[in-house]
Amino acid sequence: MTTPATTTPVRPAPHFPGIAEEHQPATGTAPGWPLVLYFHHVNPAVQHYTALAPDGFARGLETVLERFRPYSPSDLLAPGGPVRPAEPSVLITFDDGYRDNAVYARPVLDAFGVRAVFFVNTGRISDRSTNPREDFLSWEQCDAFAEAGHIIAAHTRSHPHLDRIGHAEARDEVEGSLQTIEERYGRRPDLFAYPYGGIPAEPLLPPGVLGFGTVRSPALPWSRAPHAIRRTYLPVGATEAWPDLVRHWHENWYGDSGNREPRDDR
Ligand SMILES: [Zn+2]
Repeated sequence: MTTPATTTPVRPAPHFPGIAEEHQPATGTAPGWPLVLYFHHVNPAVQHYTALAPDGFARGLETVLERFRPYSPSDLLAPGGPVRPAEPSVLITFDDGYRDNAVYARPVLDAFGVRAVFFVNTGRISDRSTNPREDFLSWEQCDAFAEAGHIIAAHTRSHPHLDRIGHAEARDEVEGSLQTIEERYGRRPDLFAYPYGGIPAEPLLPPGVLGFGTVRSPALPWSRAPHAIRRTYLPVGATEAWPDLVRHWHENWYGDSGNREPRDDR
């Protein structure tokens, strides 16, 4: 007589109705690599699939931090490449550089002691508008983030679909934004996020630059796909499902084996 193997039943990945398959957030990261979340706005007045009100953002961070430690952005820029965390860790990122990031997101980040990466459109910095989707951080606000240990990184100059424009123009958008940030902060951030998660087939980023996609990128080990790192998000309007989603990301972090040791994918 054999002893039955004790197996943990595999729970299905949470699926969110009303979200297109290619935008489903359930897949987190390759085992052992930081989970990367992206946000755009923290603003009660904005409707967007990643825009949360301040209390929603606080609740989201609280939920994620129950299972993940904050990943320090400076660990992305370690001389030997990004540091692989020993425990499930989460990197918080913001795209576009909206002014509400300083107004609403910053106090919440401070309250949780979380440092984030802000991928800004360098051609839009200091643009002001009464429309929060056209209202951008000033350089002084970016400087204040940088001084507090956050990282200002590149997201092109003018936010084009890089996969729909010519290669030379796309390169110019990438280089221009990296250069502007290098001029301001004295060193190249070597971190870039693709607008709309649109990654051109022809390689675009200089060597050594980590490129962040969206949920449209597969969850590959960063060492294998340093220019197409998957990020995912907390879907708006699905707050009740966030704990299940975070639990699923946590399981992803350890791999499908149920083995609590992270796989070595290097
Ligand atoms: Zn963007």
